[in-house]
Formats: sequence, C-alpha cells, structure tokens
Amino acid sequence: MKKLFFVSAAIIMMAGCGTAKKAAVLPEYDFPALNQGGKTAIVAHRGFWKSEEGGMSENSIASLSAAINNGFWGSECDIYLTSDDDIIINHDNRIDGLKIVSHTYDELSSHLLPNGEKRPSLDGYLARASKCAGNTVLVVEFKGLGDEERENLMVARTFDALKAHGMFDPSKVAFISFGYNICKTVARLAPGFVNQYLNGDIAPDKLAAEGINGIDYEQGVFHLHPEWVELAHRLGMSVNVWTVNNPREIDYMIGLGVDAITTNVPLLVREHLGGKEFRK
Ligand code: MG
Repeated sequence: MKKLFFVSAAIIMMAGCGTAKKAAVLPEYDFPALNQGGKTAIVAHRGFWKSEEGGMSENSIASLSAAINNGFWGSECDIYLTSDDDIIINHDNRIDGLKIVSHTYDELSSHLLPNGEKRPSLDGYLARASKCAGNTVLVVEFKGLGDEERENLMVARTFDALKAHGMFDPSKVAFISFGYNICKTVARLAPGFVNQYLNGDIAPDKLAAEGINGIDYEQGVFHLHPEWVELAHRLGMSVNVWTVNNPREIDYMIGLGVDAITTNVPLLVREHLGGKEFRK
C-alpha cells in the first residue's frame, strides 16, 4: 500500500554568495493527505469534559457529545482491553484501584463516572460518535498493555467495532498511541488512516520509514525540536501537539504551524485561532 520513491535533490541558490547548496533528499510517502489550507484543528482532550454539558467527566459520552455539539474537529478518547477482551473507555490503567487488564468490562463499568454515567464500552461510545454525521473525528488513543499480542487484539477488536458502526473511515477516525508496537500494527493494517505516535522520542523521518504517518508530541518536545514540524510536513506526515492549555503556548503552537492542538480548553484555543480554526 505504501508507495515510496525518491525525489531529486532541490538545488537552492544561497542568496548573495553565488554558491549552491543541496537540500536534504527526502523520501515521499503516500500518507493521508493534509488538506487544511494552513489552518489548525482543535482536538478536545478526552472529550469536552471541562464544561457543564460534559459533566466534568473525562472520557464520558457526555464529553464526547459536548465536543460534537461544539463542532470541534476532533474528540479524543483512551481505550483499554479488559480481561474478557472487551474494550472500555478510560484514561488511567486502574479504575478505583482495579487494574483494567485484569478485570472484565462488567466488573469495571459499574464504577461510575463523576456525572453518574456508566464507564462507556467502545460499542456504546461508537453508537454516539456514529450519529455525528462525520463532523467530528474520533481520535482513539490505544493504551499500551505491556503485551504485544493483547495490543494487537485490541487493535483488531477496535477495527471490528468501527466497521460495525460504519466508522472505519479515515474521515471519521484517527489513531494515536504511545506504543510503538501499536503504531506499527496500525500502519500495517490501516495505512490510509492518520496514525500518530505520542512518545516524543523518535524523529519523524524514522517513524515515516516504518509507515507511521504522524506525530502527536507533548509541547515540550516541540520546544526542543521545533524543526520536527517542518520535517514531518515535508514527509507528508500530520503533526498534533498535546496538551496545550496555556494562552502563550497556544499562540506558540499556532505559530509553529502544527495541524492540530489537543487541549482541555478547546473554547480558549478557538478564541486564539479565530478564522484560522480548521473545521470539517
Ligand atoms: Mg489520551
């Protein structure tokens, strides 16, 4: 699926000195196209949970609905595989002290969210997400399980659930993960989907060579490596940054030219973006 070919080196004339310098030769990849016209998308981190509508409940169906209703480009959620091979939406690897990977969905789901909601299953979550008519992309974070076989099963089961809800579509869902194995599995099984690596420790060109087509790095990484934004873009990769809540950081990241900002304060990012907000 992945096409790879090399472009000839561009020759850049150095202004004023008359000497020529060869630009780096980069491979070209057939990654999902970025068609944002220089605009920046907003991703509501764990849904738009810091709102009345979102019930101050991360990863709830209410927070997903709030993100959809406010028209943010993306709404992020975190998923784990339970001991009975079901998928639960939750950020931490434990719920009220119970290790998710060692318990069944039924054992975990009764531990209610702050707004009184049952912990969502992926199925319940997708039932809501699929009603949004494609206006908000569901950004699914696969959590590491410390077991590659279980991680691959989680990816396969997620893809099955997305297909069952008519959401296995690059315009409706994107994937992120700290797990290198998980990103490589997604690259192999779903190369046409946005697939961003989160851990911040690998340069974009190395990821691209593995077929991983995007980066979603913590803001501090881009202070250390601002050049990674341009490098990723030259490789055709998407660039996301997390979790940007501070006004000065929001402006810095907009100026840096990232494609998406993941945030707990999406309305503030919207205010800073103005007409430069990318919406579907
Ligand atoms: Mg997350």
